[in-house]
Amino acid sequence: MNPKELKEGECVHLVDFKKEGVYPIKLKKGDRFQYSGQFISHDDLIGKEEGRQVIFTGGKEMVVFRPTYGEYVLHMPRGAQIIYPKDTGQILMLADIYPGATVLEAGIGSGALSIAMLRCLGPEGTLISYEIRDDFARRAMLNIEQAIGGKPPNLVLKNQDIYKEITDQDLDRIVLDVPEPWQVVPHAKSALRPGGIFLSYLPTIIQVVQLVETLRREKGFVQIHVSESLVRDWNVDGKSVRPAHRMVAHTAFLTTARRIQD
Ligand code: SAH
Repeated sequence: MNPKELKEGECVHLVDFKKEGVYPIKLKKGDRFQYSGQFISHDDLIGKEEGRQVIFTGGKEMVVFRPTYGEYVLHMPRGAQIIYPKDTGQILMLADIYPGATVLEAGIGSGALSIAMLRCLGPEGTLISYEIRDDFARRAMLNIEQAIGGKPPNLVLKNQDIYKEITDQDLDRIVLDVPEPWQVVPHAKSALRPGGIFLSYLPTIIQVVQLVETLRREKGFVQIHVSESLVRDWNVDGKSVRPAHRMVAHTAFLTTARRIQD
């Protein structure tokens, strides 16, 4: 649980609620944040509660908040492209990530999905992450540590190519964000426990077809299901009550399958 007061080292967001701008800052004693020639001192935020209105030297008003999960991942530094919150929400439900589960993911990327899964797994669960790129793994660990306030004891990061093999067994869930997940299907078949769930995030339908055909051919998997999620924002302002003009039209398809006993 978050302590009430904002602490040095925390990432917070200054929100310009009139212009809907968001400015992430990492609190550090003695530092100042500058906005259009006006300043706010970090010392005025440290030790105070979130949700407070802050006034800049020239009278500009903003509010300080701890970022939500969705806000944090959209603003954190990236190595690899992240999975966006609209898909993360679906992944947590479709892969049925539950407290105490053992989940294998590949790759860790920037750590966005890992943070969401760690939150669902709780201290009793384990997240095993295979990643082939050291630079991405390092970036992801920094992002995860910043998000959860330290090293997660239940995250096992392995510099390992998931196309070659899965060295962990009796897994409850396998969640993939790699370009050729069909290469993982035979390993997933032996590593998932009966009743376990396989999920893959893929940007193109050609990849999805290849994956689904492999899952069918390999046997051992049922309830093969493909979906995508479209989120449409709405504008509610006086008589202007209508869908927003712009939306994210496409991110990826989610494919799930359930392992049966041989
Ligand atoms: N889900 C992540 C983003 C992952 S991007 C997030 O939300 O932040 C895809 C990652 O998979 C990259 O980091 C890439 O290096 C890694 N990767 C690609 N092929 C791999 C393989 N065969 N084994 C393990 N990791 C792999």
